[in-house]
Amino acid sequence: MSNYQLETKCLHSGYEPKNGEPRMLPIYQSTTFKYDTSEEMGKLFDLEKDGYFYTRLQNPTNDAVAAKIADLEGGVAAMLTSSGQAANFYAVFNICEAGDHVVCSNACYGGTFNLLGVTMKKLGIECTFVDPDLPLEELEKAMQPNTKAVVAETIANPSLVVLDIEKFAKLAHSHGVPLIVDNTFATPVNCRPIEWGADIVTHSTTKYMDGHAAQVGGCIVDSGNFDWDAYGEKYHGLTRPDESYHGIIYTERFGKKAYITKATSQLMRDLGSIPSPMNCFLLNLGLESLPLRVERHCYNAQKVAEFLNDHDMVSHVNFAGLPGDKYHELAKKYLPNGTCGVISFELKGGRETAVKFMDSLKLASIATHVADAKTCVLHPASHTHRQLSDQQLQEAGISTGLIRLSVGIENVNDIIADLKQALEQAR
Ligand SMILES: *Cc1c(COP(=O)(O)O)cnc(C)c1O
Repeated sequence: MSNYQLETKCLHSGYEPKNGEPRMLPIYQSTTFKYDTSEEMGKLFDLEKDGYFYTRLQNPTNDAVAAKIADLEGGVAAMLTSSGQAANFYAVFNICEAGDHVVCSNACYGGTFNLLGVTMKKLGIECTFVDPDLPLEELEKAMQPNTKAVVAETIANPSLVVLDIEKFAKLAHSHGVPLIVDNTFATPVNCRPIEWGADIVTHSTTKYMDGHAAQVGGCIVDSGNFDWDAYGEKYHGLTRPDESYHGIIYTERFGKKAYITKATSQLMRDLGSIPSPMNCFLLNLGLESLPLRVERHCYNAQKVAEFLNDHDMVSHVNFAGLPGDKYHELAKKYLPNGTCGVISFELKGGRETAVKFMDSLKLASIATHVADAKTCVLHPASHTHRQLSDQQLQEAGISTGLIRLSVGIENVNDIIADLKQALEQAR
């Protein structure tokens, strides 16, 4: 599918029905697959032949959707997971073990912060968090001899910090490690990090890719560009024999697909968290309309951000589409067609005004979610960061009046009218 434009790939990549086959991607809702001889089945277990035998490892519905996302991101292979959390965990754990270290942007999703800072630490993998806006020379200081990966988000959730991907690629590559970029908020419609030097791309497909709040899922895409053999000592899991598969060497046997094959055949085999074929079917439906939806999300968010920016009750708006935003220039470079539909803004009057505003909304719903078709809002001080005191909130850079707004694809005039009346109620 590589000659088609992205909009076409969203509809056609990954599944091409043959004569008389279903036009729509079928749901292979089966745990297992049947073979005529035990020898054929044996070859699958040895990774000698490509094929399906048990859905924890691979399933045709899942694989079709993974192939579509790999094509959209410009990668060579992809693996779907049951959540975005599982995707980020596997992306790192596939190349790290006890005694290793990773560097991660501190502008990242709370779940990623906990995963790398707390849970993976218990596995013996340490993480240093860095301010992504620091110059390269400063970032270099975080790199250690045992660093195995650099991790960051194209547009960070929820801070909306835009990543200088080329700077981070330089940081990673000058130390012989891959750059892993979580591209959830931008989606491949607005940015393809591999084109800027990222080696591995991850997604929470729960967000825009699905787009309808119907399924929780994740994805890891491999660019195929990182030369694991050149740093074979560091990545011996890929470059030395795997005793759990009769001594095969992933880079030797699978070339550019070594990383994803190892993730599937080791991590999925041993840790599970495969998405259900039904959920992959729903994700595929979402992907078909992704470019149309993303375009509308961005259009609506721009109008809403401009409205809020001009409103006397709003003290500040974070949205890289606004010319005055700190990340406007980076967004112009990496996301020239738009960033995403998520905005955060600060209400004068703090917590009380924020709560009154939220409770007065009629169209926008209060939900712990972002990046789907329906407009929703969240007040971090009362929800995601509820356990923090006002002082702790301040230290975390979250003011009591901060609202996170995920602009949906309703008619933008209806969204703005709703915000307007709720702001008046809160005045
Ligand atoms: C939501 C999110 C995740 C976690 O994904 P789940 O599907 O909720 O597990 C990871 N990264 C980013 C940027 C996210 O927005």
